[in-house]
Amino acid sequence: MDRYAVIGQPIAHSKSPSIHAHFARQTGQVLEYTALAVPADRLAEELQRLHALGLRGLNVTLPHKQAVAAQCESISERARQAGAVNTLQRTESGWSGDNTDGVGFAADLKRLGIALRARRVLVLGAGGAARGILEPILAASPALVAVSNRNPWKPEALAESFKPLGEVLPRTHVALKGDRFDVIVNATSAGHSGQMPLMPSGLLAPGGDCYDLSYGPAHAPFAAWAVRQNAARIEDGLGMLVGQAASAFEIWRGVEPAWEAVIVALRRELQVGTDTDLVAAVHAPVHRSHVELPPQD
Ligand code: NDP
Repeated sequence: MDRYAVIGQPIAHSKSPSIHAHFARQTGQVLEYTALAVPADRLAEELQRLHALGLRGLNVTLPHKQAVAAQCESISERARQAGAVNTLQRTESGWSGDNTDGVGFAADLKRLGIALRARRVLVLGAGGAARGILEPILAASPALVAVSNRNPWKPEALAESFKPLGEVLPRTHVALKGDRFDVIVNATSAGHSGQMPLMPSGLLAPGGDCYDLSYGPAHAPFAAWAVRQNAARIEDGLGMLVGQAASAFEIWRGVEPAWEAVIVALRRELQVGTDTDLVAAVHAPVHRSHVELPPQD
């Protein structure tokens, strides 16, 4: 049986085995997909071991997404541009690396009907995920793209490396004071520690949309902020997660799964709340968000 795995640490929380099990069932593919804890100091030898064991492909998550590139025989142009690899495909003598985050992000925005064309787009955060989504953002012909970050040097470096694809305005969060955007994308990991970066007020234009790469409890701080900005749409990153996995599945198996149904199944598995929950409780019912609620007594 063809075998696949996701490697990272911590890995117990990973939804990838569940997502790929859905894809395999749905497309009639026979495969095994497991989650393997791999510490940073064992990455190189684990990649060799998994290759020797005959694994066909790997997904890569934190903390290896940057480091794994150096272990690949080759990497795709989009992975090089992102400076991060999340998908490995077996070659005869090693691994080739790719990055499907941008594809997953673009597919999810399309699914949700969130347009970027001729709109002012702000990306919060300048890490690997921000780099992964900038290519499709720039390709969508937005009116402008700004990237703001806590560490001021990262957006500068990022803007420089994306110059061949288009203009990215490097900013710090504080320096955004007085600016206005139609779409704000949260690509920070602040939500994982229950935080939202301190942002100037009035950043979101009327009718503006907010999209968060985080999902589950980590989505709550950005969702709460977006509610206060009167966002027309507030969406989490669960669709992107499933979309990037679908793209990896297609690279490995040559068949594209119908991933939208899997989002619904996964949301149910995660027991994540929908429209009526926290966000709607504090704001108008037009908002859609997916926030995990504390258990009811
Ligand atoms: P990185 O570690 O590469 O980057 C983290 C970013 O978040 C940096 O810009 C960092 O700023 C910023 N940040 C972290 N904590 C804070 C804070 N307290 N206040 C302000 N800024 C903060 O992570 P990734 O780019 O790989 O991931 C970012 C997020 O995207 C994660 O939540 C991850 O789970 C999510 N993600 C979701 C995917 C999906 O499919 N839905 C796919 C990939 C990622 P600084 O540089 O100043 O430290």
